[in-house]
Amino acid sequence: MTASDIALMLLLVATALIIGIGVGRRQRASVGTAIVASPPSSLPAPSVDSISIEALADPALIVEGDTAVAANAAARQLFGDRVTGADLRLTVRHPIVLDALAEVRRHGIIVEREVSGLGSGNSAYRMRAIDSGSADNARVLLVFADITQSRLTERMRVDFVANASHELRTPLATLSGFIETLQGPAAEDEPARRRFLDIMAREAGRMSRLIDDLLSLSRIELDKHVRPVTQLDLVGVIADVGKTLAMRLDADERHLVIDEAADLPAVIADRDQILQVLHNLVSNALKYGRSGTPITLLARPEAAQPGQPAMVRLTVIDVSEGIASEHLPRLTERFYRVDSQRSRKMGGTGLGLAIVKHIVERHRGRLEIESRAGEGTRVSFTLPQAERVTIAAEAHSSA
Ligand code: ADP
Repeated sequence: MTASDIALMLLLVATALIIGIGVGRRQRASVGTAIVASPPSSLPAPSVDSISIEALADPALIVEGDTAVAANAAARQLFGDRVTGADLRLTVRHPIVLDALAEVRRHGIIVEREVSGLGSGNSAYRMRAIDSGSADNARVLLVFADITQSRLTERMRVDFVANASHELRTPLATLSGFIETLQGPAAEDEPARRRFLDIMAREAGRMSRLIDDLLSLSRIELDKHVRPVTQLDLVGVIADVGKTLAMRLDADERHLVIDEAADLPAVIADRDQILQVLHNLVSNALKYGRSGTPITLLARPEAAQPGQPAMVRLTVIDVSEGIASEHLPRLTERFYRVDSQRSRKMGGTGLGLAIVKHIVERHRGRLEIESRAGEGTRVSFTLPQAERVTIAAEAHSSA
């Protein structure tokens, strides 16, 4: 065998290898597209299209005539694996989708529609039907963007505005009514005037508390994603809550029993916000607990758990008739009240626990509400402990 024979052989082997690798790659690619599209043999191979729609996270279909010639993974999950190669009228079965397809073919434009009731879920989608640009608009791309969450958020915002307006309108109507009465029939009636002015002051107070709570809530929501960084000594904060509520506690013959663990670790928290949480919880214990019974405030450290740092748990316990279990999951919703009359009579705005929940979430803590009929309610939340190493280092550096 001559040197040129050997060179020729090497060249042949190398060429075979290169072709082999190429074939291998194509095979792998075609396996991929076969899973993606698995079109019936009569349909044109959709490899390029299916690879590109597979890259989309939203459900996407390529439709020719009434048949989906390709479907990405999200579309197969939404409509079922049978959607590929099948008639849309049988698999997707939605008049809005079929109308949009017909319209895009007629006008050769992008058609957008909102559609719900696709697949087996309750999600809402914004569907875009996009023509292929070919003369006959034979192929149409359908992409379904899930808008369920944004619809829910929008609904919540609309409900919130309606609820807040209603809450403000009620005391405002009372105020207007008394103003009219004072201007007319009760103008010269001194005892009635005094009585009405008391009610008016109470209603004005209610409006101002509501506005304060609404402003608090929007401020808390604004920096909801910014974690607090300051170290806080809870002992001082707990003592301040007792002082702020001392008059109301006395008026109802109640005592705040503070039970703190010795050497309570400092936490990472925003002082004003934790003061507000404790104030709201002790206020609720005052409003809904039995007169003359104690309100207990516990503060205990909790060791680190897998995936969770060491925390401090603060618990407010009251003695009352308790809250029925079906209400517990909804108590932190804005304006949710077990007994609206009672809450209003006690000066409640229906926003106290919503504020508590948002503040605790901002601190990466957990809020728990337990209640027993005839016994009372325990509301507790956790806050992350400040690292002792940091405390030592700071004490050292400031020395
Ligand atoms: P409110 O201003 O009405 O007190 P909150 O958001 O603080 O609003 O509480 C929501 C509702 O949860 C209250 O209206 C009340 O029905 C119930 N609730 C809260 N705390 C207690 C408690 N300690 N005992 C009994 N019911 C409570």
